[in-house]
Order: sequence, then structure tokens, then C-alpha cells
Amino acid sequence: MPGAYHGSHMKVFYSDVFVAAGEEFDTTRKAAWIAESLGARAIAGTELVEPAPLVAAQLEVVHAPAYVRAVQTGEPRSLAESNGFRWDAGLWTAVCASNGGVVEAALHAAKTGSHAGALSSGLHHARHATGGGFCTFNGIALAVRTVMGLEREHSRRILILDLDAHCGGGTYSLVRDIPGVVQADISVCKTDFYQPGSGSSSTLEIIALAADYLPTLAARLDALAGEPFDLLIYNAGMDPHEDSAIGGLKGITTAVIAERERLVFDWAQRNHVGVAFTLAGGYTGGRLDQAGLVQLHRLTIGAAIQRD
Ligand SMILES: [Zn+2]
Repeated sequence: MPGAYHGSHMKVFYSDVFVAAGEEFDTTRKAAWIAESLGARAIAGTELVEPAPLVAAQLEVVHAPAYVRAVQTGEPRSLAESNGFRWDAGLWTAVCASNGGVVEAALHAAKTGSHAGALSSGLHHARHATGGGFCTFNGIALAVRTVMGLEREHSRRILILDLDAHCGGGTYSLVRDIPGVVQADISVCKTDFYQPGSGSSSTLEIIALAADYLPTLAARLDALAGEPFDLLIYNAGMDPHEDSAIGGLKGITTAVIAERERLVFDWAQRNHVGVAFTLAGGYTGGRLDQAGLVQLHRLTIGAAIQRD
């Protein structure tokens, strides 16, 4: 139960090799910016923990062996670069570690009921046999599969909350047939759009007006309250922010994002669900600089620690 471990530190999984890819982009670099920021200006109660990198066999629980091999070896190059990044050997090192971080955060949250996070991004558009949209492997689906594989007498129920600006169609394609998994997705554009199957409890809502954003989230969380989830995996994208160079929706300000994080972690606390959060989207350029992006992602960590 959240609170039961009061006094212990909230684990945030990160390793220097999260940023080992040669490609210079927010997705491949921002974990280090945030880790540095946590070193310079600590958020009391957080602890950076190095995750074990996933190995190919673990990735193949979700992904096609040919795709896994392509990312590992760089061949065929078009498949190895289906995430949109130039391939180099460091990419494999980085994504094995950062997806391992998501898995470990989810295992920790599921086992203890307390929150944990991973400074991981580039997850939710990845599909069985291909990457896409800056996403290489789908750490969310990998985490679901790993937690579901734990021995336990009752079957687990996992909620995936995806508040990235873009739809989590990759994740949905990988989890839709897993009993007990519900994906609640609130996006601000139709990239990677999908339609939850009839009879599914999963939902996808597209927001066109910033004024609808928080009320839609609050209503969705209300609708999910009382369901006995064992774990919430929160894809905490910052790209709905109006200043994000990709994804931003006018009117979604820093105050709106801060309130969003409060709503999510208040809900988790009220419903006694441990959260595993990831960074997801959020892009510099235009009006958002590196420090500004870091500050947005710190809102998630701060909200989690206050409500653990
Ligand atoms: Zn996004």
C-alpha cells in the first residue's frame, strides 16, 4: 500500500547508458539531463537506481526475434532504424537498459505497492516487429508481460495510463489481448490512433481544446476508481505542453501539467495502487529549452514522491 514504506526512498531507475545512442535528440538524451538535475537539485526522497539491462530473450517476449536482432546488429538497416533514429551500436545498449528500467520500476511498484519510476522514453509506438515515432522497444508492454508472469494466486490487473500527446497505438497492439490489462489513453492528436475493441475496458480520448484536458482526465480516473488494479503504469509524456516542439496543444500550460500530475497521483493514493512512471514525450525547440523540459518531467517525480 502506498505509505506503508514511508521513510524509504522512491526508486527512479536510470543508468548513464540510457543515453548511449549516437543520435542526438531529446528521446536519446533527456534522461541524463534529468539525472543531472536530480544531482544538482535533489527531490527529497528519490534515489537513482541502476537497472539491469534486458537481454534479447526478454525483449522477444514482446518483440519479433528478427526485429530484436536488427536493433542489435544494425541489419537490415531500414528495420534497425524504424524508430526514426540513425542506428549505431550504442542504440542497442541504450534501449536494453532503458526498457529494463521500466520493467524494474513496474516490478517494484507491483510488489511493494509504492511508486517507482524510470527515466525512460521512446516506448509506446513500438510494435511487435517494428519501431516507430522515436520508439524502439515497448517497455510498457514488456513491463506488463513481466508483472503478469509473476507467480501469484489471483490474476493481476494492470492499468496503463498514457498521457503522452500522441496515441499509444503500439502499446495497445501489444496488450489488447492480455486479460486484466486496461489502457486509458488521453491524447491531443491522432498520431498512432487506434480504436479499442468492443467489449474492451480500454479507452482512447482525443482532446482538441485545452479546457477539456483536465476534466476529461478527472472523469476517466473517476470511472476507473474502485477497479482493483494491482499496478498503474503511467506514460507521463510532457509533449501535450503548449511549448513542446512536437505535440503541444495551446492552453496546456505548466500549471495544467502540474495539476494533471496531482490528479494522477492523488487517484493512485486514494485507490492504493502503486505507480510505475516513465518520461515518454516532451521536446525542446521553439519555446521549450532543456531546463524547461527537465522542469516539466520533474513535476511527475515531485507529485509521485508527495503521494507515495
Ligand atoms: Zn508523444
